[in-house]
Amino acid sequence: MFSLAGRTALITGAGRGIGQAIALRLAAAGAKVWVHYNTSRQPAEALVEMIRSLDGTADAVGGDVSDSAQVEAMFAAIEAAGPAVDILVNNAGINIEQHLVRMSDAEIMQVVSTNYLGVIYCTRRALGPMRKNRWGRLIHISSVVGRLGSPMQTIYCSTKSALLGFSKALMKEYGNRGITSNVILPGLIESDMTSKLPEELLKGMLERIPAGRAGLPEEVAAAVHFLATEEAGYLNGAELDVNGGML
Ligand code: NAP
Repeated sequence: MFSLAGRTALITGAGRGIGQAIALRLAAAGAKVWVHYNTSRQPAEALVEMIRSLDGTADAVGGDVSDSAQVEAMFAAIEAAGPAVDILVNNAGINIEQHLVRMSDAEIMQVVSTNYLGVIYCTRRALGPMRKNRWGRLIHISSVVGRLGSPMQTIYCSTKSALLGFSKALMKEYGNRGITSNVILPGLIESDMTSKLPEELLKGMLERIPAGRAGLPEEVAAAVHFLATEEAGYLNGAELDVNGGML
């Protein structure tokens, strides 16, 4: 039950943070895991070694998801080495904490091209083999603020809301081919990203969480694991909150 044996998973941004926990979890469930990194090559390679030492199967692949040519090269390298990706976890993302009026064009483009275009490029590329195999799991890591909004994060919030429409459209376009597309909306999760949040904002967020604490990357990974399984095949177009009840 809930085994991922025989499946190949690509987790973007898996060298650290939430992606790292997802890679460990999917590997423990039996998937062959591609640990993707952009700048965190060494941590990604260390994670591959750790998974192998736990009798899992993993390899690392690098590339900038905001660059469609690099995304193509990533997928080509994976397919040259073995089976195509049948579980794609679009996890890579960045946030630039800033008032909109102070954001430069380059900063806006960096957030949009990583969090939004990167998801589109990876999904577009993964869909080819998934359609042929009539099986696929597309799991997009959005954020609670994609639904609620948050000050100083206007572009980040917009990219995360965009994933909701993107996923629903994918569900309608490919749901008849054994492919599901679901979104996870994490709340406040312990990671490098949240360690940089201003203290005031962090305090305000914690007050809105009935659980009274930040979540753990492993708690997001557990939800991803379920969505990736055969058993979740009838779960399509969902938006799953993993936020301790944050309102
Ligand atoms: P993190 O610790 O800051 O890690 C970000 C990851 O994204 C890194 O692995 C990084 O790879 C990768 N990345 C960034 N830019 C990239 C690019 N251009 N190309 C490829 N990879 C890139 O963040 P996290 O907290 O684990 O967040 C993971 C996801 O969860 C993000 O999408 C984030 O928006 C979402 N999320 C997080 C929280 C939270 O509270 N932490 C809440 C809601 C949603 P390298 O290190 O290799 O460069």
